[in-house]
Amino acid sequence: MNTYESIIKNLYRIGKMAETDKKVLDALSEPKNIIDVVFPVKMDDGKIRIFHGYRVQHNNWRGPYKGGIRYHQNVDLDEVKSLAFWMTIKCAVLDIPFGGGKGGVLVNPKELSKKELENLTRAFVRAIHKSIGPEKDIPAPDVNTTPEIMDWIADEYSKLVGKDSPAVVTGKPVEKGGSLGRGGATGAGGFCVLENLIKKLTETTETKSRKRDLVSVAIQGFGNAGQQIAKLCDKAGYQVIAVSDSKGGILAISNPESRIPKLNVEDLVKYKQQSGSVVGFSKTENITNAELLELDCDVLIPAALENQITEENANKIKAKVILELANGPVTPEADGILKNRGIHVAPDVLANAGGVTVSYFEWYQNIHNERWTEKEVNDKLKEKITDAFNKVWEIARPDARSGSPSEPEAPRRKPLCSENLTCREAAYFLALKRLEESYLLFRWD
Ligand code: NAD
Repeated sequence: MNTYESIIKNLYRIGKMAETDKKVLDALSEPKNIIDVVFPVKMDDGKIRIFHGYRVQHNNWRGPYKGGIRYHQNVDLDEVKSLAFWMTIKCAVLDIPFGGGKGGVLVNPKELSKKELENLTRAFVRAIHKSIGPEKDIPAPDVNTTPEIMDWIADEYSKLVGKDSPAVVTGKPVEKGGSLGRGGATGAGGFCVLENLIKKLTETTETKSRKRDLVSVAIQGFGNAGQQIAKLCDKAGYQVIAVSDSKGGILAISNPESRIPKLNVEDLVKYKQQSGSVVGFSKTENITNAELLELDCDVLIPAALENQITEENANKIKAKVILELANGPVTPEADGILKNRGIHVAPDVLANAGGVTVSYFEWYQNIHNERWTEKEVNDKLKEKITDAFNKVWEIARPDARSGSPSEPEAPRRKPLCSENLTCREAAYFLALKRLEESYLLFRWD
């Protein structure tokens, strides 16, 4: 079974629990549009190379399609469909007026010069521009795509449609219509979810109350998302003990100053910028990516790619909490194993939703010609993430109601069984209720 098939199997399982109309589940089981393009790009040596890319538009019942564009040599349609599906669920969990989409180009960007990368981006936009637009489908950054690439997308699209259209894409540089706070938004959202989850778990005595300086964190992936969360955890006093990237991982070596050995995150960020990898950083030992996932730590944060925790290694995970900053790092089979083992998973559709939330704020500012301060953005982000977290938690634990009494309640679920739901099941439950409402309201048949 490929990733998309197992996601859809899971959709029907949770849809049954939520008593979602089968018509809604059937409609969500396939993307609305798949744009599959092959396009020529001029290389520095004057030769033309042909590239292959996708834009998958999964669902737009709640608003325009929304989702990043990934540049990676292993991109395939199954992956892009899965990522687009998760965007639909994520935007519904956060109650953002967007649907789900995603794009991908099969390319190893590290093999291209900057000019070639720009040519490739502009050629991809020319190939898909009729399908995107500020009210239609709004791309954003993902793996290996940057604010500069988003600027090229906005510029090329604007030329093609004959008017300045910054709202066609989010994650732009601030001076080109990007939002303050977008750069750190995915990490900030994830950190907010982590703090809320730890608070709930310690409140409910499921885990003993712990001081932050005794909470150890391991992070797989040290790109955009991974670096952001590492900095926030470090600043708040958590012990970041291990990180990794595509070249391998590092584990802090014990030192007399610290009860738990920890990495100097600030220096590590600079080291990665200079050397291109975390490997070789001082006072560390090398570990593999597989070893990092199985470390004895409190919090494990996958922040790289999909399908990292599978039925093969789920039984070996020692972390008490997994915060999914990456999309789809835990397979559905592994999810079942982690549930049985009592490991708490903050699901991707909530944990990494900070990025799309501030993307929505950016789009909103572009459309309304507004400029929000960084504080405004961060405060609104925290409010949105905390609200979504509380609603998910209330569905997962109907007996442990949270939030202020004046807040609207999360959709009630019938006591299906004595078991609590996982946060992923509860997040899907919430998203399906909202998607079903939109479907019924607008009769999208
Ligand atoms: P990025 O390209 O900035 O960083 C990816 C990191 O993962 C790099 O450090 C890379 O070396 C590492 N990596 C790649 N393959 C690896 C492997 N096999 N093992 C270990 N590490 C590996 O990308 P990003 O934007 O940080 O995205 C990372 C994840 O977060 C993706 O799943 C993405 O979909 C998700 N995400 C990102 C955002 C965002 O705003 N950037 C928002 C939501 C979700």
